[in-house]
Amino acid sequence: MDTKPCIYSLPVLLYHRIVNKDSIIGKHKIYVFAKNFRKQMKYLKDNGYQTITFYDIKKNPEMDLYKKVIITFDDGYVDNYELAFPILKEYGLKALIYLVTKINHNAWGVKEGEPKIDMMHAEQVKEMSDYGIEMGGHTQNHVNLLQLDSDEQLIEIKGSKEDVEAITKKEAISFAYPFGGIDENIKLITKQAGFDFAVSTNTGPKQFGDDLFQIRRIEITPKTSLSSFKNKVSGRYFYPSFIKSFFTGKQTK
Ligand SMILES: [Zn+2]
Repeated sequence: MDTKPCIYSLPVLLYHRIVNKDSIIGKHKIYVFAKNFRKQMKYLKDNGYQTITFYDIKKNPEMDLYKKVIITFDDGYVDNYELAFPILKEYGLKALIYLVTKINHNAWGVKEGEPKIDMMHAEQVKEMSDYGIEMGGHTQNHVNLLQLDSDEQLIEIKGSKEDVEAITKKEAISFAYPFGGIDENIKLITKQAGFDFAVSTNTGPKQFGDDLFQIRRIEITPKTSLSSFKNKVSGRYFYPSFIKSFFTGKQTK
C-alpha cells in the first residue's frame, strides 16, 4: 500500500449524526450540524481531496492514498439519509455507513438519556448504496463485543454482514466495533466472519495499513472548527508529537 509522502496516514473520519436542530442533539456530542458538515465537505471538494471507500482499496491495494479521505458514519441514523446524503451528492463525495441491523433506533443511547433517533429504512440504505455509499456491519444489536462469548460475537458480527448484504445486494467488506470494544480474539472473529477491514474508534496504529482489523479513526465533533478539520484531514494529524520527538529526543506515545 502506497502511503507516501513519508509521514502521512490516510485519514479515516468518524461521524455519527448530522443534525439541524438544537432540540435533538443529545448529551453524547455525537453530532455535527449540517451547516458545518457542508463547510467540511466543501473544503474537501475545493482542495482536491478525493473520498474513497474500502471497496476502492480492495480493488486497488496499491493505490496512492495521498489526498484521499475515508468518511465514515456509525449506526445508520435516518439523518444520514435526510441531511448528509444530499450534501455528499451535491459535492460528488462518497462515504461509508456502519449499520446496526436488528434494531430500528438507538436503544442503547436512550438507556443513557439520549433522545430516541430512528435508523434508516432498508430502501434508504439501498438508495445510498446504489449511489456509491459503502455499507458495512456494526453488529445486529449494537452490543459491546467485549461482554459476549465467542459464539455470541460471531453471531452478532457475521449476522450484521449478512443483514447488510441482504439489503444492498453487495458484499459488505468492512466492520466497525460498537463502543470501540475490541480485543485480539474479536479481531480474529471479524476476519473469520468474512470482513476484509475493520475500524475502531481512537485505538490502533497511527499508520493506516499497519492493522486492517483495527483501523484508527479521527472523530469529527460538534466542536471541530474548520481549521481543526483541515488538520484532521491533512494525513499528518497523528504525527506532530512524533515529529517533535525527533528534536527533543523524547519518545512520545
Ligand atoms: Zn455505534
